Amino acid sequence: MKEFSFIPLGGANSIGESCSLFEVGNARILVDVGLGFQERPFPNNLISRIDKTLNGLGNLDLVLITHAHRDHLGSILKLMANGYKGYIYSSKITRQLAKYVFDDIISDDLPNREIADLYAHYASYMYQQWHSFDLGDRLDIKDITIWPFNAGHIAGSFGYVIEYDSSSIVITGDASLYPNLSSGIMNFPNVENCELLICDGTAVNKMGTDFLSDEAVVDAVEISLDKGEKVIFPCFALGKDVETLLRLEREIIRRKKSFDIFAAQSTFEVASVIGLGRNLSKMKCKVAELKEITSPGIFVGRVPKQFCTPKSTYYDYLDILPSKKSPISHYFSIGTHLNSAQIELLVDFTKPKRTVFVHTPERDINNSLTLSHFNKEKVNGRKNGKREDV
Ligand SMILES: [Zn+2]
Repeated sequence: MKEFSFIPLGGANSIGESCSLFEVGNARILVDVGLGFQERPFPNNLISRIDKTLNGLGNLDLVLITHAHRDHLGSILKLMANGYKGYIYSSKITRQLAKYVFDDIISDDLPNREIADLYAHYASYMYQQWHSFDLGDRLDIKDITIWPFNAGHIAGSFGYVIEYDSSSIVITGDASLYPNLSSGIMNFPNVENCELLICDGTAVNKMGTDFLSDEAVVDAVEISLDKGEKVIFPCFALGKDVETLLRLEREIIRRKKSFDIFAAQSTFEVASVIGLGRNLSKMKCKVAELKEITSPGIFVGRVPKQFCTPKSTYYDYLDILPSKKSPISHYFSIGTHLNSAQIELLVDFTKPKRTVFVHTPERDINNSLTLSHFNKEKVNGRKNGKREDV
């Protein structure tokens, strides 16, 4: 195996702004170009880090996107605006869901109308350059081959295998083995000679036992409704709203109940993009006029007036929900990241020479050294920008 480099450019030792550069043979591949949750596209230091490291964006061969969350793809627009003219690849669903992230960025996060118009123009160029591939497809570029596997994080989420000289690099992206109804579970990639596993480390120290069952959540919903309270399910991450609706629906049917459930219009659009619209249309479900809400959430009961006001109020409203008044958390616990036991299974299966956790606060990486089955040498966090030659 010839040398390759892995250079985390963003989100390696934190959650947000995910971006990893791989230099393999003659190819330079970027996996994810995220935007931090608190950040705005102006300024965007990530793009200058990418530019500087590559010595010009013209030296970049390909951008791979793992899934449609802001912290994994929110900065592509800025990359295009700075002159990237190559291709972007992801699953078809990710490409379709990306629209919700970018519509949000263009309408809310840009300094003025003129710049918003300019970015709408970059967005149409971006979609032109954005292609999708399916599970089972292989993409040859220069002297490497790339293929995707289901990461189980949200609908359409992919992890990637980069093959080169009969060796491989596995990149999980955000990955999950929880049996979510909308995304299925992660499919471990069958690889030869895994030189490097870049693993989602979000829940590296968690065992996943702190999840509330769907039944317990719906019990809490019923109790709150009986008391005349309203219950809201805030779902900040795209795709989790649909998962929440599906679970709520399943439990409501089981109990032969019927609640009025209100959801943002975009929740239903997302459901139809991921092929679950029919399930939702069969629900006893009313779609509220919640056009201002672009971060989709759902709630049960009467639509409060506050909801028909700007988005900022929505966030205020979330803060005063029954979860604060009552000690019981009303949240469905949707597992969307691998816990430590599941990571051990993945490591056993892929047998990597090295494992690097990304998407992980630094303190968690240090603590992860206590995990029983990991060889200490395998577990390393990498500072953003620190080159790892293998
Ligand atoms: Zn994610």
